[in-house]
Amino acid sequence: MKFKNTFSFASNLDVNDKLKNYRSQFYIPLQKNGTEHIYLCGNSLGLQPKITRKYLDQELNDWASLGVEGHFHAKNPWLPYHEYLTESYSKIVGAKKTEVIAMNTLTVNLHLMMVTFYRPTSKRYKILIEADAFPSDIYAVESQINFHGYNVDDALIKLKPRNGDSVITTDDIEKLLNEEGDEIALIMLGGVNYYTGQVFDFKKITDLGHKKGIKVGFDLAHAAGNIKLELHNWKVDFAVWCSYKYLNSGPGSVAGAYIHSRHHDTNLLRFSGWWGHNKDDRFKMPDKFNPIKSAEGWQLSNPPILSLAAIRASLSIFDEVGMNALVLKSQKLTNYLIFLLESIDSNRINIITPKKRGCQVSIRVNNGNKILFDAITKKGVIADWREPDVIRVAPVPLYNSFIDVFNFYTILKEEL
Ligand SMILES: *Cc1c(COP(=O)(O)O)cnc(C)c1O
Repeated sequence: MKFKNTFSFASNLDVNDKLKNYRSQFYIPLQKNGTEHIYLCGNSLGLQPKITRKYLDQELNDWASLGVEGHFHAKNPWLPYHEYLTESYSKIVGAKKTEVIAMNTLTVNLHLMMVTFYRPTSKRYKILIEADAFPSDIYAVESQINFHGYNVDDALIKLKPRNGDSVITTDDIEKLLNEEGDEIALIMLGGVNYYTGQVFDFKKITDLGHKKGIKVGFDLAHAAGNIKLELHNWKVDFAVWCSYKYLNSGPGSVAGAYIHSRHHDTNLLRFSGWWGHNKDDRFKMPDKFNPIKSAEGWQLSNPPILSLAAIRASLSIFDEVGMNALVLKSQKLTNYLIFLLESIDSNRINIITPKKRGCQVSIRVNNGNKILFDAITKKGVIADWREPDVIRVAPVPLYNSFIDVFNFYTILKEEL
């Protein structure tokens, strides 16, 4: 399709958008003057679906009227509540139902997965991560290395792009694995890098890693609900994600984890808790831990039902739309954004997001001058600034419109 940078063209794209009605199912934050913000920050905190309140009220009411009996007799009994999410989650990450579990929070799950999948030996003890990974991921892998008594300077490989490029290529990774692969125990990458928006080649990297005997895991914080995933077919060992970014489940809401089915039956080492124990005799309070033979076997605690209810509300929308339709609109929306940005004649900004991306676009501002960001914020844009020099914007296909993208472009152009 040939795009045009006019309001009427953008407006026409909205009219013909099959998902246009979903915007009204979300609360769009308002500016002081009562008009809607141009909200392009769903990569950081997704907006609230209007049905979330209904799902929460159901559980609050059942708690009020039933107390502890709600575990069995609530309209949606709490005992198996996490199971209500598995089918939707399996579709979002491309996994079997037994391979996904809603539990804990993201960084906690990353640690739990590394307890199982980072088992260093004196010959093979290194972890490979991208140099500009999200800080929490760096802290987590560093602390795991320390925990096992290895030295971070030696054991952590922070992969940087070559030749001053802003993205890491699969070739860079292959070259490194050929040189040092025998010493690497774990590859842990942000599936969609939070800074550049780059999507890694999950399948190729997983294959390359496995060929060298390396476990491969991904942090999907910026991937789940944003791009098409096929974790099972790609044979990824494990993955973790949060539910409050593209999955619109509320600040700090419960996270997710995926563990490939080939690992379920193996009694792999893990940190255990009672909720991971075999359901048949969990309440007989046996002494010996006997894990459920699925991703559920990695659970520790009985989960926060109110948070799961918010996730369930949001996932009902994803079920209805489906990732295929979502990604189709997402690509068009982001292609339009990039078309508009490229039409701006200014040497003050450049796009660092590569072609392999989801909906996020990272705009590098020359000299890291934050004035531009502050100016567009004043005009009603909600985006985010990432030090040292990037404005991240993410038009989200469920609730952002082509007009949102056009208005953002107009404001940015004026300020430039
Ligand atoms: C958002 C994000 C996190 C946040 O971790 P929490 O444990 O949910 O606070 C971690 N890693 C990445 C890559 C993220 O994008």
